[in-house]
This record gives sequence, structure tokens and C-alpha cells, in this order.
Amino acid sequence: GGDPGIPPAARPGRPDPKPDPERAAAIRRRDRAHVFHAWAAQKHIDPLPVAGGAGSYFWDYEGNSYLDFSSQFVNLNIGHAHPRVVAAVRDQAERLCTIAPHFTTEPRAEAARLIAGLAPGDLNRVFFTNGGTEANEHAVRMARTATGRPKILSAYRSYHGATATALNLTGDPRRWSADSGSAGVTHFFGPYPYRSAFHADSPEQECERALAHLDLTIRMEGPATIAAVLLETVIGTGGVLVPPDGYLAGVRRICDEYGILMITDEVMVGFGRTGEWFAVGHWDVVPDLLTFAKGVNSGYVPLGGVVVSDRVAAVFDHRPYPGGLTYSGHPLGCAAAVATIGAMRDEGMVEHAAWLGEQVLGPGLRDIAARHPAVGEVRGLGVFWALELVKDRGTREMLVPYAASPAESTPVTEVMAACRKAGLWPFANYNRIHVVPPCNLSAAEAAEGLAILDGALTAAD
Ligand code: PLP
Repeated sequence: GGDPGIPPAARPGRPDPKPDPERAAAIRRRDRAHVFHAWAAQKHIDPLPVAGGAGSYFWDYEGNSYLDFSSQFVNLNIGHAHPRVVAAVRDQAERLCTIAPHFTTEPRAEAARLIAGLAPGDLNRVFFTNGGTEANEHAVRMARTATGRPKILSAYRSYHGATATALNLTGDPRRWSADSGSAGVTHFFGPYPYRSAFHADSPEQECERALAHLDLTIRMEGPATIAAVLLETVIGTGGVLVPPDGYLAGVRRICDEYGILMITDEVMVGFGRTGEWFAVGHWDVVPDLLTFAKGVNSGYVPLGGVVVSDRVAAVFDHRPYPGGLTYSGHPLGCAAAVATIGAMRDEGMVEHAAWLGEQVLGPGLRDIAARHPAVGEVRGLGVFWALELVKDRGTREMLVPYAASPAESTPVTEVMAACRKAGLWPFANYNRIHVVPPCNLSAAEAAEGLAILDGALTAAD
């Protein structure tokens, strides 16, 4: 195949930034003295001062540029500085930067119409938040209020955000430090064929056993105490765990059987990342609530939300919904969303992301795996891939252990350092390298990044 749907205007190529090391030093000094960084031991980090970005690249003040295989925190689905979105934010800023949420505006009404149009089934109403964490907080509150039941079931290895409820819902080690032992959240094991919790030896068996485990968990917890099952459609930071065919439909069936709502977290996978507008589209499953953020406007302005089914929305037809946010439906965020969705549509980016996964990234990563014994498994779809690194392919022992505080220097950090030195910025977590570039990455950029990754992986062999 060719390279469908990529207009030349959106591909500025690798930039050649002018160095300004004094400016970088001044930024670093102020940052180190006054910025308190997320998820970090403050004295153990050295954040890179970033000067700018365009298309699939960003650059620093030292003359280095980086091909962005991380899409930042997997939000940059249309690349940096897309002219259509930049113009939309500028135009909206000139017209109206902010307005209280009890008014309505053209960007909010239009963003909601577009998002509801992309969401499946009767997911027709959008509650806007500032990001993914708040989207999950509100989805859970809607489910609890609508059902009158207290508990939420969520999956181990998932990530749902960093506020109290969202962190307790999270099933990866980020939860441990702030776990309140919170009543109201029970975790279950989802499917992960490579490291099956069920000793399954095929994806079909994994699917069947994971569904039986969920059903048993629900019966032991008491179906009448459970408001919702919340799960990432494809687990993201936990390792790009693509569910076996039949799993999500099975979860839907089990939820229906017990009158439990199904919430899918599409914060990371929504808006083209997996080669569908929403990842549930791969399996034709319609949840009761769907959360989004990140890709909705590529992160140009903070925005997230919950798409609510007609059935759940109707609960609040005559009783007030108990929740809101000063910036809900922020005009700049919504204007950016309208322009982003329009650009993705007009430039065929979702189809392109699917094509990249099938024709370029999947085959390219499997080729790389064949050359590097440290790669235990390659998983993914669209522009959403992970390489799982192991000490030994036979035992599958993780190259870096699963822990609350990853060690500071590991073979994975060495691979990352080698990538960065060669001008590539992937995303790493524990024993995994994630390859999650923008949806409109060109085939030439993909080839450049894969070649760098191939070379850097020798640090792990
Ligand atoms: N849910 C998922 C699946 C995520 O990947 C993330 C962020 O990485 C969140 C929720 C939290 O979103 P935010 O950081 O925008 O609050």
C-alpha cells in the first residue's frame, strides 16, 4: 500500500533547531528551584527544557530534535502545532476565552454533537471535564447515583487517573502509595494471554476463563452492591493489553445479566489511536458510559469528558446531577476538539492509523523482535504498540520487575537513553517500550523511528 491520507502540509519533517543553551540553563534553574513535578522524587530528575514542536517532532534548546514515538502521554494524536487547530484556538481566544458552565457556547455544543456522533449506540450526551481522571470520577459518580449501588469493579494493571477515587480504581502500582483501602472498589483480573492469571494456553481459553472469573467476582461481591464494571477498552500504560475477541462482548453480557453498568475508559485509546474512532468499535460493544480525554483535541488544551447513554442520562432528567466543574466545556478546549476531529476526518487520520498498524508498525516491530532476544512479545494495533522485554524468552521473566518505584537505571532506561541520543522519544514503563506515535505519522517517519529503536535495543540484549 501507499501512505494514505497524509497531506504534505502536515509533515514538516525533522527540524533543525537553533541552539540557545543559555536559555535552557535559565529554564532549568528556575524549574529546579520552584517547580514541583508529578510522580517524581524531586532531586532525582532533570526535565528536558522543550522549545517547540511541529508535526511528529519536538526539539530542545541544545539543537536536538526528537521524533515523538510517545505522543507525549499518548495524547498527541494529530502531531504538534497542527495549523487548523492552532488557528481554531486563536480564533476562539479572540472571541471568548472563558464562560461559566451554565451558559452554552457554539464550541461546546458542536464538540458534544461531534463526539456523540462518533460514539456508538445510544451514547448521545457529553459531560465535559478537564481531563481523563475527572472523566472517570464523574462516570463512576453517575453510575453510583443512577443505580443506587456503592461498588465499582475495575481491573488489575489498569490506570484510571490520579485523584482519590480514580487512583483507588487504578489497578497498577501507582495505586499503592495512595491506596485508602477504599470501600467501594474491587479489582479483578482481565485477560493477558502472555502472563495469564488463569494458566490459559490460548487467547480463547484466556477469554473464557477471564469472563468466568469476572462472573464469580460479581457473585462473591454481591451483584446488588455493584454499580459498574469499569475497564480500559485496551489497557494502555499497563502494557497495551488488547483483549481477546469476545471478551468485551462477554463483559457486556455479564453486566446486563446483573443490571450492572459498563464503563469503558477510552482516555488513551479514543480518537483514532487504535485505528477506530473509539476502540470499542473493533468489537462492536456499546458501554453505558464512555470516558475520553487526551486525543479529543490532541491535548492542545486540557479537555476530557463522559459520553452518557440515553438510558443513564434519563435518570437525571428530573433530578439534578450532583457534580460540576468551573471549566466544564471550556471554550478553548472545545474549539480545539471541533478542529481536531475535523482535521482527523478530512485528512483520513483514523484510517491511516489502522493502515500504519497493519502495514508498517506491526510488521516492522515483529522484524525487530526477531533480531533481539530481549523482546518477549510484540502487541498492539493502530498506532498503539508495546514491546515486552524479558530476561529469557522461555521463562518470560520480566527484564525490569513490576514495582512501586522503578529502579533508576535499568536496561529499559538504557534503551530509552540510546533512542533519545539518536533523536527518538518512545514511552517506557517497567519492562516495556511503547511505540505510540501520532496517528498521522508518515511511513518515512515510521521507518526512521523503527531503525533507531532497532539499534537502541542492543542495550537490552
Ligand atoms: N485513564 C487512562 C486509560 C489513562 O491512560 C489516563 C492517563 O494516562 C487517565 C485515565 C487519566 O487521565 P488524565 O491524566 O488526563 O487525568
